[in-house]
Amino acid sequence: MHKSQKKALQFLVPMILAAAVTWITLHPFFEVSYRTPFLLYFGAIFISAAIGGSRSSIIATLSCVIFSFLFILPGYRPSAEIFGVATFIFMGEGLLVSGLFRRIERIQQKLAESEQRFRGIIEKSAEGTVMTDQDGKIGYVSPSFTKFLIDVTDNLDGKQIQSLIHPEQAEEFQDQLNKLINHEIAEMAFIVQVMAKEGRWIWIEGVAMDHLEEKSIRSIVFQCRDVTSRIELEMQKEDFLQITSHELKTPITSIKGFIQVLKKKHVNEGRTQDITIIDRIENQSGRLEHLIEDLLDVTRVKNGELPYRFSIIDLTECITEVISAYQAIHPDYTFVFLPLGSVKVYADKDRIGQVLTNLLNNAIKYSPTVDRLEISVSREGAQIKTSVKDYGIGIPVAYRQQIFERFYRIPALPKEAFNGLGIGLYISNEIIKKHGGMMGVESEELKGSEFWFKLNMAQPVD
Ligand code: ADP
Repeated sequence: MHKSQKKALQFLVPMILAAAVTWITLHPFFEVSYRTPFLLYFGAIFISAAIGGSRSSIIATLSCVIFSFLFILPGYRPSAEIFGVATFIFMGEGLLVSGLFRRIERIQQKLAESEQRFRGIIEKSAEGTVMTDQDGKIGYVSPSFTKFLIDVTDNLDGKQIQSLIHPEQAEEFQDQLNKLINHEIAEMAFIVQVMAKEGRWIWIEGVAMDHLEEKSIRSIVFQCRDVTSRIELEMQKEDFLQITSHELKTPITSIKGFIQVLKKKHVNEGRTQDITIIDRIENQSGRLEHLIEDLLDVTRVKNGELPYRFSIIDLTECITEVISAYQAIHPDYTFVFLPLGSVKVYADKDRIGQVLTNLLNNAIKYSPTVDRLEISVSREGAQIKTSVKDYGIGIPVAYRQQIFERFYRIPALPKEAFNGLGIGLYISNEIIKKHGGMMGVESEELKGSEFWFKLNMAQPVD
Protein backbone atom coordinates (compact mmCIF):
# COMPACT_ATOMS: atom_id res chain seq x y z
CA MET A 1 0.00 0.00 0.00
CA HIS A 2 1.18 3.52 -0.79
CA LYS A 3 2.47 5.63 2.11
CA SER A 4 -0.10 8.42 1.57
CA GLN A 5 -2.92 5.86 1.32
CA LYS A 6 -1.78 4.30 4.57
CA LYS A 7 -1.77 7.70 6.29
CA ALA A 8 -5.25 8.52 5.01
CA LEU A 9 -6.48 5.18 6.32
CA GLN A 10 -4.94 5.88 9.74
CA PHE A 11 -7.13 9.02 9.96
CA LEU A 12 -10.22 7.91 8.15
CA VAL A 13 -10.81 4.57 9.83
CA PRO A 14 -10.97 5.90 13.42
CA MET A 15 -13.16 8.83 12.41
CA ILE A 16 -15.60 6.66 10.48
CA LEU A 17 -15.72 4.17 13.34
CA ALA A 18 -16.28 6.94 15.93
CA ALA A 19 -19.09 8.34 13.78
CA ALA A 20 -20.63 4.89 13.29
CA VAL A 21 -20.53 4.13 17.02
CA THR A 22 -22.11 7.51 17.77
CA TRP A 23 -24.90 6.76 15.31
CA ILE A 24 -25.52 3.33 16.85
CA THR A 25 -25.57 4.83 20.33
CA LEU A 26 -28.09 7.47 19.35
CA HIS A 27 -30.36 5.00 17.60
CA PRO A 28 -33.39 4.41 19.86
CA PHE A 29 -33.31 0.72 19.11
CA PHE A 30 -29.97 0.37 20.98
CA GLU A 31 -31.10 1.45 24.43
CA VAL A 32 -28.26 -0.40 26.19
CA SER A 33 -25.54 1.22 24.16
CA TYR A 34 -26.99 4.60 24.95
CA ARG A 35 -26.59 3.90 28.64
CA THR A 36 -22.94 2.87 28.24
CA PRO A 37 -21.72 4.73 25.12
CA PHE A 38 -18.05 4.51 26.07
CA LEU A 39 -18.08 0.74 26.08
CA LEU A 40 -18.84 0.77 22.36
CA TYR A 41 -16.31 3.52 21.75
CA PHE A 42 -13.61 1.17 23.09
CA GLY A 43 -14.46 -1.18 20.25
CA ALA A 44 -13.72 1.66 17.83
CA ILE A 45 -10.36 2.25 19.53
CA PHE A 46 -9.32 -1.43 19.29
CA ILE A 47 -10.37 -1.85 15.68
CA SER A 48 -8.58 1.39 14.73
CA ALA A 49 -5.41 0.24 16.54
CA ALA A 50 -5.51 -3.10 14.78
CA ILE A 51 -5.83 -1.42 11.38
CA GLY A 52 -3.72 1.73 11.72
CA GLY A 53 -1.62 1.18 14.84
CA SER A 54 -1.21 3.41 17.88
CA ARG A 55 -1.66 6.62 15.91
CA SER A 56 -5.12 5.51 14.75
CA SER A 57 -6.09 4.53 18.26
CA ILE A 58 -5.23 8.06 19.54
CA ILE A 59 -7.27 9.59 16.73
CA ALA A 60 -10.10 7.18 17.54
CA THR A 61 -10.00 8.21 21.22
CA LEU A 62 -10.12 11.91 20.39
CA SER A 63 -12.81 11.46 17.71
CA CYS A 64 -14.97 9.48 20.12
CA VAL A 65 -14.66 12.22 22.76
CA ILE A 66 -15.56 14.95 20.24
CA PHE A 67 -18.49 13.01 18.77
CA SER A 68 -19.83 12.11 22.20
CA PHE A 69 -19.70 15.74 23.32
CA LEU A 70 -21.38 16.92 20.14
CA PHE A 71 -24.09 14.30 19.80
CA ILE A 72 -24.55 12.25 22.94
CA LEU A 73 -24.14 14.81 25.75
CA PRO A 74 -27.17 16.96 24.73
CA GLY A 75 -29.62 14.13 25.40
CA TYR A 76 -27.68 12.29 28.08
CA ARG A 77 -30.14 11.60 30.90
CA PRO A 78 -28.14 10.80 34.09
CA SER A 79 -26.31 14.22 34.29
CA ALA A 80 -23.74 16.32 32.49
CA GLU A 81 -21.29 15.92 35.44
CA ILE A 82 -21.41 12.13 35.24
CA PHE A 83 -20.90 12.38 31.50
CA GLY A 84 -17.86 14.64 32.04
CA VAL A 85 -16.25 12.23 34.53
CA ALA A 86 -17.00 9.24 32.26
CA THR A 87 -15.46 11.04 29.27
CA PHE A 88 -12.39 11.91 31.31
CA ILE A 89 -11.89 8.29 32.40
CA PHE A 90 -12.55 7.04 28.85
CA MET A 91 -9.97 9.42 27.42
CA GLY A 92 -7.37 8.28 29.98
CA GLU A 93 -8.02 4.63 29.20
CA GLY A 94 -8.06 5.29 25.45
CA LEU A 95 -4.65 6.92 25.66
CA LEU A 96 -3.38 4.04 27.85
CA VAL A 97 -4.48 1.54 25.20
CA SER A 98 -2.75 3.67 22.54
CA GLY A 99 0.42 3.68 24.67
CA LEU A 100 0.31 -0.11 24.90
CA PHE A 101 -0.09 -0.42 21.14
CA ARG A 102 2.83 1.94 20.66
CA ARG A 103 4.97 -0.33 22.83
CA ILE A 104 3.96 -3.42 20.86
CA GLU A 105 4.81 -1.56 17.67
CA ARG A 106 8.30 -0.74 18.98
CA ILE A 107 8.95 -4.38 19.94
CA GLN A 108 7.76 -5.52 16.52
CA GLN A 109 10.00 -2.96 14.86
CA LYS A 110 13.04 -4.15 16.85
CA LEU A 111 12.29 -7.78 15.98
CA ALA A 112 11.94 -6.90 12.31
CA GLU A 113 15.22 -4.98 12.38
CA SER A 114 17.07 -7.85 14.01
CA GLU A 115 15.58 -10.36 11.54
CA GLN A 116 16.55 -8.04 8.71
CA ARG A 117 20.11 -7.86 10.06
CA PHE A 118 20.52 -11.65 10.29
CA ARG A 119 18.83 -12.19 6.94
CA GLY A 120 21.23 -9.59 5.51
CA ILE A 121 24.24 -11.48 6.92
CA ILE A 122 23.07 -14.71 5.24
CA GLU A 123 22.10 -13.00 2.00
CA LYS A 124 25.29 -10.97 1.65
CA SER A 125 27.53 -13.91 2.63
CA ALA A 126 29.72 -15.47 -0.07
CA GLU A 127 28.48 -18.86 1.13
CA GLY A 128 25.22 -20.10 -0.33
CA THR A 129 22.55 -21.18 2.12
CA VAL A 130 19.72 -23.57 1.36
CA MET A 131 17.11 -24.72 3.86
CA THR A 132 15.07 -27.84 3.27
CA ASP A 133 12.61 -30.01 5.12
CA GLN A 134 13.58 -33.55 6.11
CA ASP A 135 12.79 -34.90 2.64
CA GLY A 136 15.09 -32.38 0.99
CA LYS A 137 12.28 -30.10 -0.24
CA ILE A 138 13.70 -26.59 -0.57
CA GLY A 139 12.09 -23.87 1.55
CA TYR A 140 14.69 -21.13 1.36
CA VAL A 141 17.57 -20.35 -1.00
CA SER A 142 19.94 -17.44 -0.38
CA PRO A 143 20.68 -15.13 -3.33
CA SER A 144 24.39 -16.11 -3.25
CA PHE A 145 23.39 -19.72 -3.94
CA THR A 146 21.22 -18.82 -6.92
CA LYS A 147 23.97 -16.48 -8.15
CA PHE A 148 26.41 -19.29 -8.83
CA LEU A 149 23.83 -21.94 -9.44
CA ILE A 150 20.88 -22.51 -11.67
CA ASP A 151 19.68 -19.66 -13.81
CA VAL A 152 18.63 -16.83 -11.51
CA THR A 153 15.15 -16.88 -12.98
CA ASP A 154 14.66 -20.48 -11.85
CA ASN A 155 12.60 -20.75 -8.74
CA LEU A 156 14.00 -23.45 -6.52
CA ASP A 157 11.32 -23.21 -3.84
CA GLY A 158 9.57 -26.54 -3.43
CA LYS A 159 12.12 -28.45 -5.54
CA GLN A 160 14.04 -31.41 -4.10
CA ILE A 161 17.66 -30.55 -3.33
CA GLN A 162 18.61 -34.05 -4.54
CA SER A 163 17.39 -33.14 -8.03
CA LEU A 164 20.15 -30.53 -8.33
CA ILE A 165 22.94 -33.05 -7.66
CA HIS A 166 24.81 -34.88 -10.43
CA PRO A 167 23.08 -38.27 -11.01
CA GLU A 168 26.28 -40.20 -10.19
CA GLN A 169 26.54 -38.54 -6.78
CA ALA A 170 22.84 -38.27 -5.92
CA GLU A 171 22.61 -41.70 -4.25
CA GLU A 172 25.61 -41.14 -2.00
CA PHE A 173 24.25 -37.66 -1.16
CA GLN A 174 20.89 -39.17 -0.21
CA ASP A 175 22.59 -41.83 1.97
CA GLN A 176 24.49 -39.14 3.83
CA LEU A 177 21.32 -37.08 4.22
CA ASN A 178 19.53 -40.09 5.71
CA LYS A 179 22.38 -40.58 8.16
CA LEU A 180 22.14 -36.92 9.18
CA ILE A 181 18.39 -37.09 9.71
CA ASN A 182 18.73 -40.34 11.69
CA HIS A 183 21.38 -38.67 13.88
CA GLU A 184 24.03 -41.19 12.79
CA ILE A 185 26.28 -38.25 11.95
CA ALA A 186 26.36 -34.81 13.59
CA GLU A 187 27.01 -32.94 10.35
CA MET A 188 27.19 -33.87 6.71
CA ALA A 189 30.20 -32.69 4.75
CA PHE A 190 29.81 -32.88 0.98
CA ILE A 191 31.59 -32.08 -2.27
CA VAL A 192 29.21 -32.61 -5.17
CA GLN A 193 28.51 -31.40 -8.66
CA VAL A 194 25.37 -29.40 -9.30
CA MET A 195 23.81 -28.16 -12.50
CA ALA A 196 24.71 -24.50 -13.05
CA LYS A 197 23.82 -21.91 -15.63
CA GLU A 198 23.97 -22.93 -19.29
CA GLY A 199 23.90 -26.63 -18.43
CA ARG A 200 27.38 -26.51 -16.87
CA TRP A 201 28.19 -28.75 -13.90
CA ILE A 202 29.99 -26.98 -11.08
CA TRP A 203 31.53 -28.34 -7.86
CA ILE A 204 30.19 -27.16 -4.54
CA GLU A 205 31.61 -27.98 -1.14
CA GLY A 206 29.81 -27.50 2.12
CA VAL A 207 28.20 -28.87 5.26
CA ALA A 208 24.64 -29.64 6.17
CA MET A 209 23.33 -29.44 9.71
CA ASP A 210 20.12 -30.88 11.07
CA HIS A 211 18.11 -28.10 12.78
CA LEU A 212 14.75 -29.80 12.30
CA GLU A 213 14.09 -29.94 16.01
CA GLU A 214 15.03 -26.32 16.66
CA LYS A 215 11.78 -24.36 16.91
CA SER A 216 13.06 -21.19 15.27
CA ILE A 217 14.66 -22.97 12.28
CA ARG A 218 12.93 -26.34 11.73
CA SER A 219 15.04 -27.09 8.66
CA ILE A 220 18.13 -28.83 7.40
CA VAL A 221 20.56 -26.05 6.65
CA PHE A 222 23.05 -26.53 3.79
CA GLN A 223 25.90 -24.05 3.54
CA CYS A 224 28.17 -24.30 0.57
CA ARG A 225 30.53 -22.52 -1.79
CA ASP A 226 31.63 -22.90 -5.38
CA VAL A 227 34.96 -24.79 -5.44
CA THR A 228 35.02 -25.62 -9.15
CA SER A 229 38.34 -23.90 -9.90
CA ARG A 230 40.03 -25.67 -6.96
CA ILE A 231 38.73 -29.10 -7.93
CA GLU A 232 39.64 -28.58 -11.59
CA LEU A 233 43.16 -27.61 -10.57
CA GLU A 234 43.39 -30.72 -8.37
CA MET A 235 42.21 -32.85 -11.27
CA GLN A 236 44.82 -31.30 -13.56
CA LYS A 237 47.52 -32.05 -10.96
CA GLU A 238 46.19 -35.58 -10.65
CA ASP A 239 46.32 -36.07 -14.42
CA PHE A 240 49.81 -34.59 -14.59
CA LEU A 241 51.00 -36.95 -11.86
CA GLN A 242 49.49 -39.97 -13.55
CA ILE A 243 50.78 -39.12 -17.02
CA THR A 244 54.32 -38.22 -15.91
CA SER A 245 54.75 -41.30 -13.74
CA HIS A 246 53.52 -43.48 -16.61
CA GLU A 247 55.82 -41.73 -19.07
CA LEU A 248 58.80 -42.09 -16.72
CA LYS A 249 58.23 -45.77 -16.06
CA THR A 250 58.96 -46.98 -19.60
CA PRO A 251 62.41 -45.38 -20.04
CA ILE A 252 63.54 -46.37 -16.54
CA THR A 253 62.63 -50.01 -17.20
CA SER A 254 64.72 -49.94 -20.41
CA ILE A 255 67.61 -48.19 -18.64
CA LYS A 256 67.64 -50.96 -16.01
CA GLY A 257 67.61 -53.59 -18.72
CA PHE A 258 70.51 -51.98 -20.58
CA ILE A 259 72.51 -51.63 -17.35
CA GLN A 260 72.21 -55.37 -16.78
CA VAL A 261 73.34 -56.08 -20.35
CA LEU A 262 76.27 -53.70 -19.87
CA LYS A 263 77.21 -55.28 -16.54
CA LYS A 264 77.13 -58.78 -18.03
CA LYS A 265 79.32 -57.62 -20.89
CA HIS A 266 81.87 -56.08 -18.52
CA VAL A 267 81.92 -59.21 -16.37
CA ASN A 268 82.37 -61.47 -19.44
CA GLU A 269 85.15 -59.29 -20.78
CA GLY A 270 86.82 -59.16 -17.37
CA ARG A 271 86.60 -55.34 -17.10
CA THR A 272 85.97 -55.45 -13.35
CA GLN A 273 87.20 -51.87 -12.67
CA ASP A 274 83.90 -50.44 -14.07
CA ILE A 275 81.61 -52.86 -12.24
CA THR A 276 81.37 -50.68 -9.09
CA ILE A 277 80.27 -47.69 -11.19
CA ILE A 278 77.71 -49.82 -13.05
CA ASP A 279 76.48 -51.15 -9.70
CA ARG A 280 75.98 -47.59 -8.51
CA ILE A 281 74.07 -46.67 -11.68
CA GLU A 282 71.93 -49.77 -11.19
CA ASN A 283 71.33 -48.86 -7.57
CA GLN A 284 70.30 -45.29 -8.36
CA SER A 285 68.04 -46.33 -11.22
CA GLY A 286 66.48 -48.86 -8.84
CA ARG A 287 65.72 -46.00 -6.44
CA LEU A 288 64.26 -43.98 -9.29
CA GLU A 289 62.09 -46.90 -10.35
CA HIS A 290 60.90 -47.31 -6.77
CA LEU A 291 59.96 -43.65 -6.61
CA ILE A 292 58.03 -43.82 -9.87
CA GLU A 293 56.25 -46.98 -8.68
CA ASP A 294 55.23 -45.12 -5.50
CA LEU A 295 53.90 -42.20 -7.56
CA LEU A 296 51.94 -44.60 -9.72
CA ASP A 297 50.57 -46.27 -6.60
CA VAL A 298 49.31 -42.91 -5.32
CA THR A 299 47.07 -42.46 -8.36
CA ARG A 300 46.10 -46.14 -8.29
CA VAL A 301 45.10 -45.88 -4.62
CA LYS A 302 43.14 -42.67 -5.29
CA ASN A 303 41.24 -44.29 -8.15
CA GLY A 304 40.80 -47.58 -6.26
CA GLU A 305 42.91 -49.33 -8.90
CA LEU A 306 45.70 -50.74 -6.73
CA PRO A 307 45.61 -54.49 -7.45
CA TYR A 308 45.44 -56.93 -4.51
CA ARG A 309 45.98 -60.67 -4.37
CA PHE A 310 44.60 -61.90 -1.07
CA SER A 311 45.46 -65.26 0.44
CA ILE A 312 46.21 -66.72 3.85
CA ILE A 313 49.82 -65.80 4.56
CA ASP A 314 52.28 -66.28 7.40
CA LEU A 315 52.92 -62.77 8.72
CA THR A 316 56.10 -63.81 10.58
CA GLU A 317 57.55 -65.21 7.39
CA CYS A 318 56.64 -62.04 5.47
CA ILE A 319 58.28 -59.81 8.13
CA THR A 320 61.41 -61.99 8.27
CA GLU A 321 61.86 -61.75 4.50
CA VAL A 322 61.58 -57.96 4.51
CA ILE A 323 63.97 -57.63 7.46
CA SER A 324 66.55 -59.93 5.79
CA ALA A 325 66.44 -57.80 2.65
CA TYR A 326 66.95 -54.69 4.74
CA GLN A 327 69.71 -56.24 6.82
CA ALA A 328 71.56 -56.97 3.58
CA ILE A 329 71.36 -53.31 2.46
CA HIS A 330 72.05 -51.90 5.95
CA PRO A 331 74.57 -54.31 7.53
CA ASP A 332 75.48 -51.77 10.27
CA TYR A 333 71.93 -51.63 11.59
CA THR A 334 70.61 -53.83 14.35
CA PHE A 335 67.15 -55.14 13.53
CA VAL A 336 65.60 -56.67 16.63
CA PHE A 337 62.62 -58.84 15.73
CA LEU A 338 60.29 -60.12 18.44
CA PRO A 339 58.06 -62.65 16.62
CA LEU A 340 54.98 -64.48 17.86
CA GLY A 341 55.45 -67.86 16.21
CA SER A 342 53.52 -68.57 13.07
CA VAL A 343 50.76 -65.99 12.58
CA LYS A 344 48.25 -66.44 9.81
CA VAL A 345 46.49 -63.47 8.31
CA TYR A 346 44.32 -63.09 5.23
CA ALA A 347 46.32 -60.55 3.27
CA ASP A 348 48.23 -59.62 0.15
CA LYS A 349 51.82 -60.59 1.01
CA ASP A 350 53.43 -58.14 -1.41
CA ARG A 351 51.33 -55.24 -0.20
CA ILE A 352 52.05 -56.01 3.48
CA GLY A 353 55.72 -56.26 2.49
CA GLN A 354 55.35 -52.84 0.86
CA VAL A 355 53.94 -51.40 4.10
CA LEU A 356 56.77 -52.91 6.15
CA THR A 357 59.33 -51.61 3.66
CA ASN A 358 57.89 -48.10 3.99
CA LEU A 359 57.96 -48.28 7.78
CA LEU A 360 61.53 -49.64 7.92
CA ASN A 361 62.64 -47.06 5.36
CA ASN A 362 61.21 -44.22 7.45
CA ALA A 363 62.53 -45.66 10.71
CA ILE A 364 66.06 -45.65 9.25
CA LYS A 365 65.68 -42.28 7.51
CA TYR A 366 64.33 -40.46 10.56
CA SER A 367 66.82 -41.97 13.06
CA PRO A 368 70.04 -40.38 11.88
CA THR A 369 71.98 -41.08 15.09
CA VAL A 370 70.67 -44.44 16.38
CA ASP A 371 71.20 -47.60 14.30
CA ARG A 372 68.79 -49.87 16.14
CA LEU A 373 65.23 -50.78 15.19
CA GLU A 374 62.75 -53.06 16.90
CA ILE A 375 60.04 -54.95 15.08
CA SER A 376 57.47 -56.77 17.15
CA VAL A 377 54.30 -58.75 16.66
CA SER A 378 51.67 -59.06 19.36
CA ARG A 379 48.14 -60.31 19.63
CA GLU A 380 45.26 -57.96 20.49
CA GLY A 381 41.96 -59.86 20.67
CA ALA A 382 41.20 -61.09 17.17
CA GLN A 383 43.85 -58.86 15.68
CA ILE A 384 47.59 -58.98 15.18
CA LYS A 385 49.57 -55.83 15.83
CA THR A 386 52.87 -55.32 14.03
CA SER A 387 55.07 -52.47 15.30
CA VAL A 388 58.22 -50.84 14.01
CA LYS A 389 59.97 -48.86 16.71
CA ASP A 390 62.82 -46.45 16.16
CA TYR A 391 64.88 -44.16 18.41
CA GLY A 392 64.90 -41.22 16.03
CA ILE A 393 63.66 -37.65 15.87
CA GLY A 394 60.04 -38.44 16.82
CA ILE A 395 56.90 -36.67 15.62
CA PRO A 396 55.27 -33.64 17.28
CA VAL A 397 51.69 -34.37 18.45
CA ALA A 398 50.22 -31.76 16.08
CA TYR A 399 51.32 -33.73 13.01
CA ARG A 400 50.50 -37.30 14.03
CA GLN A 401 47.27 -37.44 12.05
CA GLN A 402 48.38 -35.38 9.05
CA ILE A 403 51.44 -37.50 8.23
CA PHE A 404 49.06 -40.15 6.83
CA GLU A 405 47.71 -37.67 4.28
CA ARG A 406 48.82 -37.64 0.66
CA PHE A 407 52.01 -35.64 0.04
CA TYR A 408 52.11 -34.48 3.65
CA ARG A 409 55.55 -33.86 5.12
CA ILE A 410 56.19 -32.22 8.48
CA PRO A 411 56.88 -28.61 7.49
CA ALA A 412 59.51 -27.90 10.17
CA LEU A 413 61.82 -30.69 8.98
CA PRO A 414 64.85 -29.62 6.93
CA LYS A 415 64.08 -30.92 3.44
CA GLU A 416 67.73 -31.29 2.50
CA ALA A 417 68.35 -33.55 5.51
CA PHE A 418 65.34 -35.80 4.99
CA ASN A 419 64.29 -36.30 1.40
CA GLY A 420 60.97 -37.83 0.40
CA LEU A 421 57.63 -37.14 -1.23
CA GLY A 422 55.24 -37.68 1.66
CA ILE A 423 53.44 -40.62 0.09
CA GLY A 424 54.81 -43.72 1.86
CA LEU A 425 52.54 -43.49 4.90
CA TYR A 426 49.54 -42.53 2.77
CA ILE A 427 49.92 -45.62 0.58
CA SER A 428 50.64 -47.85 3.62
CA ASN A 429 47.59 -46.60 5.47
CA GLU A 430 45.36 -47.15 2.44
CA ILE A 431 46.71 -50.69 2.01
CA ILE A 432 46.02 -51.53 5.66
CA LYS A 433 42.51 -50.02 5.41
CA LYS A 434 41.89 -52.22 2.36
CA HIS A 435 42.80 -55.20 4.58
CA GLY A 436 40.13 -54.11 7.10
CA GLY A 437 42.85 -53.14 9.56
CA MET A 438 44.12 -49.89 10.98
CA MET A 439 47.35 -48.00 11.30
CA GLY A 440 48.71 -45.55 13.88
CA VAL A 441 51.72 -44.09 15.59
CA GLU A 442 52.96 -43.43 19.10
CA SER A 443 55.84 -41.07 19.38
CA GLU A 444 57.88 -38.90 21.67
CA GLU A 445 59.75 -35.97 20.22
CA LEU A 446 63.51 -36.53 20.01
CA LYS A 447 63.07 -39.98 21.57
CA GLY A 448 61.57 -41.96 18.71
CA SER A 449 58.42 -43.29 17.11
CA GLU A 450 56.54 -46.55 17.01
CA PHE A 451 54.44 -47.09 13.89
CA TRP A 452 51.98 -49.97 14.05
CA PHE A 453 49.34 -51.66 11.99
CA LYS A 454 46.71 -54.16 13.00
CA LEU A 455 45.38 -56.96 10.81
CA ASN A 456 42.58 -59.42 11.45
CA MET A 457 43.77 -62.94 12.19
CA ALA A 458 42.87 -65.60 9.63
CA GLN A 459 42.75 -68.22 12.39
CA PRO A 460 43.35 -68.06 16.14
CA VAL A 461 46.95 -68.44 17.31
CA ASP A 462 47.50 -71.17 19.88
P1 ADP B 1 58.34 -39.24 3.34
O1 ADP B 1 59.11 -39.95 4.38
O2 ADP B 1 58.71 -39.60 1.97
O3 ADP B 1 58.29 -37.76 3.56
P2 ADP B 1 56.02 -40.58 4.45
O4 ADP B 1 54.62 -40.58 4.00
O5 ADP B 1 56.66 -41.90 4.60
O6 ADP B 1 56.80 -39.67 3.45
O7 ADP B 1 56.08 -39.83 5.84
C1 ADP B 1 55.40 -38.61 6.01
C2 ADP B 1 56.08 -37.76 7.08
O8 ADP B 1 55.97 -38.41 8.35
C3 ADP B 1 57.55 -37.60 6.85
O9 ADP B 1 57.84 -36.50 6.03
C4 ADP B 1 58.09 -37.41 8.25
O10 ADP B 1 58.00 -36.06 8.60
C5 ADP B 1 57.13 -38.19 9.13
N1 ADP B 1 57.65 -39.51 9.54
C6 ADP B 1 57.37 -40.70 8.96
N2 ADP B 1 57.99 -41.69 9.60
C7 ADP B 1 58.67 -41.14 10.61
C8 ADP B 1 59.52 -41.64 11.65
N3 ADP B 1 59.78 -42.95 11.77
N4 ADP B 1 60.06 -40.76 12.50
C9 ADP B 1 59.79 -39.44 12.40
N5 ADP B 1 59.01 -38.91 11.46
C10 ADP B 1 58.45 -39.74 10.56
